[in-house]
Amino acid sequence: MAPAPSWFTDGREHVWRPYCQHRTAPDPFRVAATRGCRLVLDDGSELVDGLASWWTAAHGYNHPHIRACVQRQLEALPHVAFGGLAHEAGYTLCTRLASLFPGPLSRVFLVESGSVAVEVALKIALQSAYQRGEDRGDVIAFSGAYHGDTFATMSLCDPVEGMHRAFSRRPALPVHHLAIPSDDGSDGFDDAFAALAARAAACVVEPLVQAASGMRFHGVKALARIRDACTRHGVTLIFDEIATGFFRTGQRFATDALRDACGVTPDVVVVGKALSGGTLPLAAVIATDALFEDFSSTEASWALQHGPTYMANPLACAAAHGSLDLFDAADFAATTAALSADLRAALSPLSSHPWVRDVRVKGAVAVVELDAGRAPPSRAFADRGAFVRPLRFSSCDVVYLMPPLVIDRADLAVLTEAIHGALADAAR
Ligand SMILES: *Cc1c(COP(=O)(O)O)cnc(C)c1O
Repeated sequence: MAPAPSWFTDGREHVWRPYCQHRTAPDPFRVAATRGCRLVLDDGSELVDGLASWWTAAHGYNHPHIRACVQRQLEALPHVAFGGLAHEAGYTLCTRLASLFPGPLSRVFLVESGSVAVEVALKIALQSAYQRGEDRGDVIAFSGAYHGDTFATMSLCDPVEGMHRAFSRRPALPVHHLAIPSDDGSDGFDDAFAALAARAAACVVEPLVQAASGMRFHGVKALARIRDACTRHGVTLIFDEIATGFFRTGQRFATDALRDACGVTPDVVVVGKALSGGTLPLAAVIATDALFEDFSSTEASWALQHGPTYMANPLACAAAHGSLDLFDAADFAATTAALSADLRAALSPLSSHPWVRDVRVKGAVAVVELDAGRAPPSRAFADRGAFVRPLRFSSCDVVYLMPPLVIDRADLAVLTEAIHGALADAAR
């Protein structure tokens, strides 16, 4: 890297970085620009981005269509509050999102981050139960879960392997963690669920892929069993599709995969990340009419009591329209299927590496799970032209790729060859 400029050396004394042990962490890579699937560093070198900025930049960076949508909005109306005021970008986005989901999922609440969206989904479930006169204050979540960093969402995260251990002794919400059910029904899930269900308002799951807490996969049958248990016991089922949404696992949503396989759907879906294509912060909660009706009353206090200042920010809504236009304009299910096949072909030979415990691919999520402590640092991948950030847990390390969905074969090869090279060198 070039000698550090003063904006960096001065700022380093003031910036508090995310998930970062400042005493031991190396300096971050200094990005001067983005282009397609690449980060351009301040010395002019380029890294192919294996993570698409926490899985947001599905269409690559600086997409001209998304940029034009945001620019047009910036001229006309950068922001007004959503309280007492309406704007076209926000209203049309809600209509559009509702049209992407099966019929009953038709009410959309827009917020500025995924964690806040999960909080709103929880509030909808808890407050609606209260207003139906039900005594339900608990939440059921799953081991291996990650749902965000705010207090309520931290209490949903895996209490052992999750990153929020310091807070798990006094969780903000009474949450019970179950194992994701098996496909065949031999695991006692139904009894365990039944024992908790009478007091539970909501059950929250990352469908098909549990992402940030270890990139673990399950099948649509597990989701069908969760749906069935929630239906039998009157528990609101929330799908957190912030990571899985927008073709990351193959279909547009895991919700579609469940509906196609079993004809059932969740009661609430949360989306974020790729929604606005990696440009501006936006997330959305999509709930059923039935839940919306639980808030209908002549009593003002029965309203959903939530309204972030930058809710439905028009610039972010315009970016989302741009991103959704692009998702509509091509066959992304086919794009993801092809990407999936390439990832599998390139990475499966790694299963014979002595430190590799598992190589798995679902949609455009590729995972190389290693013995704990064995993942090379980001620098080792960057030396080979790739930006990769391994996840580290007490039980294993996880090197994963969730690149822009539009990545071409040459850039994808840079990523997969960087993983091969870094692991070969590390074991030498
Ligand atoms: C990233 C993520 C979140 C949190 O979203 P933020 O926008 O970072 O608050 C919640 N749930 C899942 C499944 C995620 O991947």
